[in-house]
Amino acid sequence: MPELPEVETVKRGLAPTFEGALIENLDQNRADLRFPFPENFRARLTGRRVTALSRRSKYLLADLDSGDVLVMHLGMSGSFRIEVDEEVSTPGDFAHAKSKNEKHDHVVFHLATSAGEAARIHYNDPRRFGFMTLVPRPDLREHALFRNIGIEPLGNELDGARISALFAGKKAPLKSALLDQKLIAGLGNIYVCEALWRTGLDPRRAAGTIAGKNGRGTKRTSALAAHIRDTLTEAIEAGGSSLRDHTQADGTLGYFQHRFAVYDREGEPCRTPGCTSSIERIVQSNRSTFYCPTCQR
Ligand SMILES: [Zn+2]
Repeated sequence: MPELPEVETVKRGLAPTFEGALIENLDQNRADLRFPFPENFRARLTGRRVTALSRRSKYLLADLDSGDVLVMHLGMSGSFRIEVDEEVSTPGDFAHAKSKNEKHDHVVFHLATSAGEAARIHYNDPRRFGFMTLVPRPDLREHALFRNIGIEPLGNELDGARISALFAGKKAPLKSALLDQKLIAGLGNIYVCEALWRTGLDPRRAAGTIAGKNGRGTKRTSALAAHIRDTLTEAIEAGGSSLRDHTQADGTLGYFQHRFAVYDREGEPCRTPGCTSSIERIVQSNRSTFYCPTCQR
């Protein structure tokens, strides 16, 4: 399952080609992915210009000049392949190898880019857990996919005061509260483990115990917000570098996995200077949690 940094990397990789482009034609090679495509999908896209590309949680949003928003989710195995003239690139190709098998190309956008080039963007998805739908822009906020989604962890919305307000009185473990998509959008298991280790917070403690009084930020909540942002930003930058050198990343396991301090490092030494403990693994809400029993309190 791609995590937020991968989806953000895909967005940044698609943007130069997709934003401002005219969709001259569209190949829709199946009636469904995880869900059926909306009615008249091809007709509602053909001849439209993409006015903006953005991300909300793990959804990619392409605004069209018709007022519709093309909502795209990568599911487990979805990826895009961009062809501009002879150049081929696959943004977000840093966590796992992507399928290059064209029989899994379910949607192909034929574009005239804002720079006047002919381009094609292929959506490839062997397992078909991804989906695409169209939502009128004014309906987006209250749409079933979006109305219960919490704040974005990147950007200025998330700070110490906001974490205090969100977590006040919560008895759920800190780890579970951070994974709760209704509170904070798109935070996944890997980055929560990493941010908690950096902040020195025990994933098992009740979320409410770090909240400041009356929604005020504390040293802990401010540090946690900063470490969440840094962890995600570093992963996005690592993914971004695979965009510039996609042949090296092609087909190999992502190198940025080796940068994790705790995730998937059970039994290995903690990386805090002077700490002699080993990373432990426990299961919380059916997900593995990795942490240092000495550094995280
Ligand atoms: Zn440690």
